[in-house]
Amino acid sequence: MRIKRIFAHRVELPLVEGTYKWSGGKSVSVFDSTIVGVETDTGLIGYGEVCPLGPFYLPAYAEGVRSGLREIAPHLIGYDPRELAKLNHRMDAALKGHPYVKSGIDMACWDILGLSTGLPVCVLMGGRFGENVRLYRAISQEAPEQMAAKVAGYRAQGYTRFQLKVGGDPDLDIERIHAVRGMLLASDRLVADANTGWTQHEAMRVVRAVRDVDVYIEQPCLTYSECLAVRRNTDHPFVLDENVDSLEMLLQAKSDLAMDVVNLKISKLGGLTKTKQARDLCVSMGIAMTLEDSWGGDITTAAIAHLAHSTPEEYRFTSTDFNSYVTVSTAQNAPQRINGFMTASTEAGLGITPRQEILGPMVVDVS
Ligand code: MG
Repeated sequence: MRIKRIFAHRVELPLVEGTYKWSGGKSVSVFDSTIVGVETDTGLIGYGEVCPLGPFYLPAYAEGVRSGLREIAPHLIGYDPRELAKLNHRMDAALKGHPYVKSGIDMACWDILGLSTGLPVCVLMGGRFGENVRLYRAISQEAPEQMAAKVAGYRAQGYTRFQLKVGGDPDLDIERIHAVRGMLLASDRLVADANTGWTQHEAMRVVRAVRDVDVYIEQPCLTYSECLAVRRNTDHPFVLDENVDSLEMLLQAKSDLAMDVVNLKISKLGGLTKTKQARDLCVSMGIAMTLEDSWGGDITTAAIAHLAHSTPEEYRFTSTDFNSYVTVSTAQNAPQRINGFMTASTEAGLGITPRQEILGPMVVDVS
């Protein structure tokens, strides 16, 4: 089986809530997502998706996905899409860095591996652990009482895990954490994700002010050394995200005992193959994970479901159903949230069928 064509569609994904705001005044109202197709000489087509969280979250942007695909795709024509290690080796030789560009191709090739073997991706990634995957809801940055009201609404829909977007004014963030934690049950989990938005002294003030609150602190500062300093001065469970973008950083952070939970995003690491490598290492090292991506719609959500469902339950902190945040459905049979949980498809591959009428014209076509 050989790759004969790699193509991509651009899809706009407007947000149900209208806008999504996080640290430093950053926001997105319509996500720009790229649906990647890998077509083989047997007629099988696999699909993947890459959707950066705007151009100012990670070193990634939507047009960069398409530009990178045009650069890398000619090097992959004729390769067997089922030989995923070889394919990733080829991608890394053809384009240095830019892991997010490679993520959609890798995801599509896992879809092909599943379709060609008749197995769901989660089975190929290690096996299906447990009945379902617990989800968290990200709460866009607003006034404390508005965020508390949003949490109450999503809690009524079945969520028990919440990630507050903080990283703004520290005094307001302290209020946000108190307002939301005060209305949750003891069994609910709350994460305050600053998305690099606090300076070190601001982060130190926040963790002191919420010392007696049951809250996880995620990626308080921009650099790893700042985060480590905060980590060493608080006993809150600690999550690293933006700084852990490679195996090297994961091992460094483990060595420094710099986190209790790590956030693994598929496109941040460069696809399902590389995320599986990091995931398996975390399981061996005893580190729990938030398993997700930067953003996306139905196809990204399907990939997250397979990644998470093939991870031992005790190491799954949370995952996200991004397709429920947006107004457009790009594929049939994508995971749907039921009472705060989702499940990976039992069909072959990712188990989704793109809605061709939604995908629109091709913006990349290499054969
Ligand atoms: Mg995060």
